[in-house]
Amino acid sequence: MAISVVCDLCKKPVLLEKARINELGKAVHEQCYVQSIRASKPVGPGERPKPSV
Ligand SMILES: [Zn+2]
Repeated sequence: MAISVVCDLCKKPVLLEKARINELGKAVHEQCYVQSIRASKPVGPGERPKPSV
């Protein structure tokens, strides 16, 4: 029996066995999870890992 929950990111149903649990403890699609990780990691020309003084 498949249990489905609502993805916390896109608000669409996702099978619990296919879902990922994010850092908030919410079930999300694996794809949505990956996108949320990318969104929370800004990697761009404005990002400076080492402060050069
Ligand atoms: Zn989703």
